[in-house]
Amino acid sequence: MLNHLHLPLIAETDILVIGAGSAGCVAALSAAAEKRFSVMLVERYGFPGGTSTQMLDTFYGFFTPGSSPRKVVGGWPDRVVNELHKTGDIFLRPNTYGAGTGVNYNPERLKRVWDQLILQSSIRYLLHTSLVDVGQEGERFIGIFWNKGGFGKVVARRVIDASGDADFCHLAGLAYETAGEHEPAQSLTTTFRMSNVDLEWYEREGGKKMLAGKMRTAVETGTHALPRKEGSAHRMNAKGCISTVAVKVSGLSALKADELTQAEVEGRRQAFVYEEFFRDAVPGFAQSNIIGLSHQIGVRETRRVYGEHRLTKDECLSGKLPTDRIFLCGAPIEDHRQGLNGEDETHWEYIPGAGVYGVPYGTIVPKGSQSVWVVGRCFSATHDAHASCRSMAQTMSMGQAAGLAAVQSLVQDEPANQLDTKALQDSLCRIGAVLEVPSKDYDYDDWQ
Ligand SMILES: Cc1cc2nc3c(=O)[nH]c(=O)nc-3n(C[C@H](O)[C@H](O)[C@H](O)COP(=O)(O)OP(=O)(O)OC[C@H]3O[C@@H](n4cnc5c(N)ncnc54)[C@H](O)[C@@H]3O)c2cc1C
Repeated sequence: MLNHLHLPLIAETDILVIGAGSAGCVAALSAAAEKRFSVMLVERYGFPGGTSTQMLDTFYGFFTPGSSPRKVVGGWPDRVVNELHKTGDIFLRPNTYGAGTGVNYNPERLKRVWDQLILQSSIRYLLHTSLVDVGQEGERFIGIFWNKGGFGKVVARRVIDASGDADFCHLAGLAYETAGEHEPAQSLTTTFRMSNVDLEWYEREGGKKMLAGKMRTAVETGTHALPRKEGSAHRMNAKGCISTVAVKVSGLSALKADELTQAEVEGRRQAFVYEEFFRDAVPGFAQSNIIGLSHQIGVRETRRVYGEHRLTKDECLSGKLPTDRIFLCGAPIEDHRQGLNGEDETHWEYIPGAGVYGVPYGTIVPKGSQSVWVVGRCFSATHDAHASCRSMAQTMSMGQAAGLAAVQSLVQDEPANQLDTKALQDSLCRIGAVLEVPSKDYDYDDWQ
């Protein structure tokens, strides 16, 4: 560990949130909204949102898929959507299959929304600053950070690790499984956006069904060296623009800089193979071109912390609501697998029955932890369960629960792993979280 004694003090805070992705932003917001304790949010890049703004434009997980959609998430995730709605930077993309209806947003506006929500609260907000080491002084944690000013430390009573890669837990010596250890890790994807697309022509020619056929033909006949036969392209919040989840880079670890470098290069290479394919083969795309690649290659899973509870595939497929649930999930298992069992495409498994399960509190508490929570894509789940429970409506819900849990733990002097979950559920319900499956289908006309 770096010797922290002589490092400059950046701040002392009650609650430190590491990483301003969808989970971390909401964790900091829900904790700060209680107005009881100081909250600090630290992010390595120059903007908030993590994957939500680095590469995506659709929140999944608000609704269950299928012809009887239920809205299973509420509270802070709704507030984020409401802010986007104020400027018209949002629309619903109805879908009865796949991950269900998506909430489509302008990712550049979302950066601004995260900024504004954070600045309207009392959160101490620090960008361009990376966690590089962790120490402990009595009951307080020392987060050691690096930015262009050099090394510095933040002293905190409670920590929420929302780094996506569980960097805090890793550096603190907490146990985790690394993706790829038991099952192949989910693949990496550089997303890209194209402009000057004639979307009316594209839809007239058959839209996504037609696109799927063209991709299959391109792979089978070898006209374009696409990495897979599937892949999606959907309209964006800007006229004549589409966004894709198509690139597939497998077998490289996002935790090893040399392999991640190879993955970034390969992801960009594949994106331009797709550009050529779209122009040559897809009606409406002849005059289109790539106008943006994701800020970095998309990472679906790296470290998954071993928590007080580990969510399993059986629990997801049971459709049960455990008594200590802190949010609901109706997203199917969507495994972007790497050729497992000869399959080279995305593997889907839907939640039976009402299509919803509840996620226990222990999934956001590292095993034995008294003052640390872990939220977002590094929470405690097996590979399959994680492949269902990683949509952004769920990562925001984890953040919301952890923020309130950290406050409760300070007020009541309760260790994280012995928290009164009934009291936490009451706080969650007070701010609008959904913990019971709605009895009625969601009427999309009620949206906003
Ligand atoms: C290609 C791809 C497509 C997807 N498609 C969808 C979709 O369409 N809809 C959907 O709902 N979900 C989708 N998902 C899943 C979902 O986006 C993620 O599971 C979710 O965004 C993860 O959020 P997070 O906050 O846990 O992590 P992240 O978004 O990864 O945020 C972590 C944050 O921590 C910061 N950070 C990391 N390390 C440090 C450090 N050491 N110090 C300081 N800061 C640090 C990062 O810069 C980042 O801002 C997709 C994921 C991928 C990769």
